[in-house]
Amino acid sequence: MPNFDYEAPTSLARALELLSRPGEVRALAGGTDIIDQLKNNRRNADLVVDLKRVPELLTLESNGSRLRIGSAVSCTDVHKFTLEKGGFSALTEAVELVGSIHIQNRASVGGNVCNAAPSADTIPSLLIHEAVAHTASASGGREIPLIDFFAGPGQTVLQKGEILKELVLPASSANTASAYLRFIPRNEMDIAVAGVGSLIEINPSTKVVTKARIALASVAPTPVRAYAAEKFLEGTVIDAVAIDKTADIAVGSAVPITDVRGSAEYRKELIRVLTKRTLNICMERLA
Ligand SMILES: Cc1cc2nc3c(=O)[nH]c(=O)nc-3n(C[C@H](O)[C@H](O)[C@H](O)COP(=O)(O)OP(=O)(O)OC[C@H]3O[C@@H](n4cnc5c(N)ncnc54)[C@H](O)[C@@H]3O)c2cc1C
Repeated sequence: MPNFDYEAPTSLARALELLSRPGEVRALAGGTDIIDQLKNNRRNADLVVDLKRVPELLTLESNGSRLRIGSAVSCTDVHKFTLEKGGFSALTEAVELVGSIHIQNRASVGGNVCNAAPSADTIPSLLIHEAVAHTASASGGREIPLIDFFAGPGQTVLQKGEILKELVLPASSANTASAYLRFIPRNEMDIAVAGVGSLIEINPSTKVVTKARIALASVAPTPVRAYAAEKFLEGTVIDAVAIDKTADIAVGSAVPITDVRGSAEYRKELIRVLTKRTLNICMERLA
């Protein structure tokens, strides 16, 4: 492990002051990505700023109209909270898939987002629930729709000295359901070969879809929304034929690479299957 200074501030103001210092300053939340990256020289740091003691980054609350998740809140806490409150099933499912129980106890949803891996499991769920990234820096903060937060594999639009403060998700209306599924070759502790999050809102009497959100993991340099599939589904009466067609269209938003985990063609087929399955789960949840 290379040498670096370490600070664990207990206020946001102090954290932001540290993060704006010259040199390579890295935020640390759970450390499950960054420690490994530093050890293996995939990232370097002069200073590591531990954010886990900053109260403003540990918010976890829902007031009925929105859910606020502080950037340093662990996957375990998000899982417990959303399971109890309901309304964000895809996210509840995604946080429970990250690594293992031990990893989930350390790993934050904010860290999963800021690490910006195309395969990150929480991101499709956050995208379909229309999360907005609220940032903070010494010079102020920004509100960035999550879809605009990613600049490439491992890269975000955060500037030097700017951190993710919290993720804010509007509450879903009634008659809405969401689901997240990923494919990995073994039961756990693996990176998604492909992942799909789906959310639909339907008119219960006509079964017409009034809102559709579909987001894909591991099939592009950044997480992507399957806009064409969403557009097709909105205004359509949902049934098996519509779900099949939506899944076919979603494949068109995937631009995967071939690597050791799977070929591009295999990943596209996974998108078709996982889109179908997540939409069917949504329908079961709405029944
Ligand atoms: C064994 C193992 C299994 C894993 N399995 C999965 C899996 O199944 N699915 C999955 O998606 N991931 C998995 N991961 C990856 C990792 O656990 C997640 O990405 C995790 O959510 C990262 O959160 P963290 O709090 O540990 O982030 P950290 O490692 O603390 O930080 C990650 C990155 O985000 C930056 N960062 C953190 N917080 C902020 C902030 N507030 N503002 C700006 N930048 C910030 C850091 O500087 C760093 O670059 C696994 C990791 C391990 C070690």
